[in-house]
Amino acid sequence: MKKGQGIRAGTKEGRWITAVATAMVLGALTMLTWSWLTGPVTAAPTAPSEPPVIALTFDDGPSPEYTPKILALLTRYHAHATFFVLGSEVARFPKIAREIVQQGSVLANHGYDHVNFFQVGVRGVLRDLERANRLLAQERLPATPFYRPPFGNANAALVRALNQRGYTVALWSIDTRDWARPGAAFITRRVLSEAKPGAIILMHDSGGNRADTVNALAAILPVLESEGYQLVTLPEYVRRLHLHTPTELPLKPAKPRSAPPPAPSPAGPWT
Ligand SMILES: [Zn+2]
Repeated sequence: MKKGQGIRAGTKEGRWITAVATAMVLGALTMLTWSWLTGPVTAAPTAPSEPPVIALTFDDGPSPEYTPKILALLTRYHAHATFFVLGSEVARFPKIAREIVQQGSVLANHGYDHVNFFQVGVRGVLRDLERANRLLAQERLPATPFYRPPFGNANAALVRALNQRGYTVALWSIDTRDWARPGAAFITRRVLSEAKPGAIILMHDSGGNRADTVNALAAILPVLESEGYQLVTLPEYVRRLHLHTPTELPLKPAKPRSAPPPAPSPAGPWT
């Protein structure tokens, strides 16, 4: 607009033009803001990234005293776990084993009698495992193809024999040592300080007083949830980490294979 051709503000025409101009500016600002908020309409939708996973595992159960408490906590925090049950305990408490499945968690095999590989050898472990399987089938309890050798005792020959039968040998990356009853604070600290994507946590829901384990879990679960972790079963863990059919978990053994047999002691080590 050239100088001298302006319309003086204050006239009727000037007020009208000012109103139209203001409306246009506001409209343009609104469109810019909307475009900034929504992005260009031609952009491809981005897939939501999946949250990092951690696998919680519980050995030696089921237990009528501790397993239901653990299941209630898992449900409360939208978590699922893998329970490496013993045939001897499933025989006593099949109803509790069924509750594990109903919660959305899964059963896996820890054998029947908690045999020590270093004492019974490959054939002894396989016999014990089959005995547990027969019981699970008899009780119509679905079990996932994961085997955790008692005490974590295994060697390459055992891993191979189990793989040939379709099992993945599952150890752990975080040992809470809860079997030694070190206190809920110790267990909580150990898990929270070592937690990272892909961790496999070892705990026990039977085999002794597991009050520390339950109390620790009540402290651990809300923190892991708030940190964005999703607590998943081992089949889900394998799927999410694209591991297909691993021969053993975690992918890097948590302890040396050449470890000598543990000295027999009533206090453990117990897994
Ligand atoms: Zn065990």
